[in-house]
Amino acid sequence: MSKKGKVYLVGAGPGRADLITVRGADVLKTTDCVIYDKLANPALLKFARPDAEVIHVPKRIGSGSCTQDQINKLLVEKAGSGQTVVRLKGGDPCIFGRARQELTALAEAGIDFEIIPGVTAAIAAAESAGIILTDRDYSSQVVFITGQEAEGKQKSNIDWDTLAKFRGTIVFYMAMGNLELIARRLIRNGMEEETPAAVIADATLPNQKTIRASLKQITEKCRENKIEPPAIVVISTAADAKLNWLTSKPLFGRSIVVTRDTDSNADFAAKIIGKGGNPIEFTTIKIKPLTQTNKFLKTLTKIAEYDWIVFTSANGAVSFFDVLQRLNRDARVFASTKIAAIGSETAAKLTEFGIKADFVPGVFTSKELGKQLISFANLQGRKVLLLRSQLASSELSELLETAGAEVDNVPVYTIATVKNQCSWLIEKIKKDEIDWLTFASPSSANAFFEQIPTDLINSGNIRVASIGPVTSEQLKNLGIRVDAQAAEHTTDGLLAAIEKMCK
Ligand code: SAH
Repeated sequence: MSKKGKVYLVGAGPGRADLITVRGADVLKTTDCVIYDKLANPALLKFARPDAEVIHVPKRIGSGSCTQDQINKLLVEKAGSGQTVVRLKGGDPCIFGRARQELTALAEAGIDFEIIPGVTAAIAAAESAGIILTDRDYSSQVVFITGQEAEGKQKSNIDWDTLAKFRGTIVFYMAMGNLELIARRLIRNGMEEETPAAVIADATLPNQKTIRASLKQITEKCRENKIEPPAIVVISTAADAKLNWLTSKPLFGRSIVVTRDTDSNADFAAKIIGKGGNPIEFTTIKIKPLTQTNKFLKTLTKIAEYDWIVFTSANGAVSFFDVLQRLNRDARVFASTKIAAIGSETAAKLTEFGIKADFVPGVFTSKELGKQLISFANLQGRKVLLLRSQLASSELSELLETAGAEVDNVPVYTIATVKNQCSWLIEKIKKDEIDWLTFASPSSANAFFEQIPTDLINSGNIRVASIGPVTSEQLKNLGIRVDAQAAEHTTDGLLAAIEKMCK
């Protein structure tokens, strides 16, 4: 008999993908099979192994949906055949999640399981709207209630009389279909009509909406604002709190496509999330080190002979130090050679490898680097080494040569285009779900528009932001209108330019 697998019942968190627990994400990375719900953010699947089997089990009415029984059977079948399975459920798996049915089926089949908690919607929704669920002055207790009791139940389990007199915070899940009835029942049982209420839909996501009104008016206000599930209803003295920390972030609600290589996209996405935006990662390019070439290896043997070494991108620094490490060497190869970096991001990357750049220009372009380095240092007869992309233009070497430098240009990496399955992005663009496209290099712009038709961008409401003049120029060559250009040519500068236009 084959060995049985194991099921991890994992809370996916309330919406935003990075609100899953560390343990939940770790388990997702190793599992053979992922079975996920409608409310679990599909972006979490990026953690899954590329070869993992992924099964979506929406529990909706209509075709394509699954019954609870079918889901239980699927779990038993997959784990029974020896696979490790993550059963990913929105929020916390044991809060209104039919966990008992799934776990009982597993226990009866003798299958091992583990429960990994998640942040439940009530807590995340209240906090995203700045509502404090407990407060020593006005709320020493909280209740979580379903607004939609199990179908076919004869008598309500909710004691409306007690609830109406409850001195604390009341949170309803799944209440949008019954909101009017709920409010009426509470008022009829003695709750003040003017009790503050809040409805938070799509909590923690970039399209989060918060409606605040008295209990009497909340249903009408939700109707006016076309509030749709999933939503949480909070009834509490604190529900009218105005601590709107999330929705007041500068890029809140903006969906921003990032188009660099995978690692740079992840860094950029984190910055966007920090400003309240919704990053959409689309990898366009891949960095391919060229540090195995004879030219590079020969240069390395005489690297300390150079007076200046210039890095014009963080990618160049990473490629260079990767190979140095592989060759069992370190930053001491530079001896007293001076180092120039094109900008703050490259300089920051160099510090990770123990190098403090001797020169960073005030404006982060190759041309400015050349012009400003010439005024900063006497380059007459000096040996300068440029460690750059194979695709870099000759402008910088020409400038430095004019100042009398002896320039060696040694490519340390090149850039390859990554082809994607891109129908999902095209679909989002057509549905007007994207606010901004960002480009941090001409190569990304080229690779992106090899895959996405330019007409689609120019004809819609989408706006385009570029990191600097060289990238903007390339976008214009491709026939794309540039709406914002970073003043400082970094990803922070790019976001600042977008922020300015969103005010
Ligand atoms: N296990 C989940 C709850 C499942 S019941 C948890 O712990 O959060 C489904 C209900 O959860 C929805 O009807 C809604 O009331 C709430 N919900 C889930 N995600 C939500 C979100 N992002 N914003 C607001 N409410 C949400």
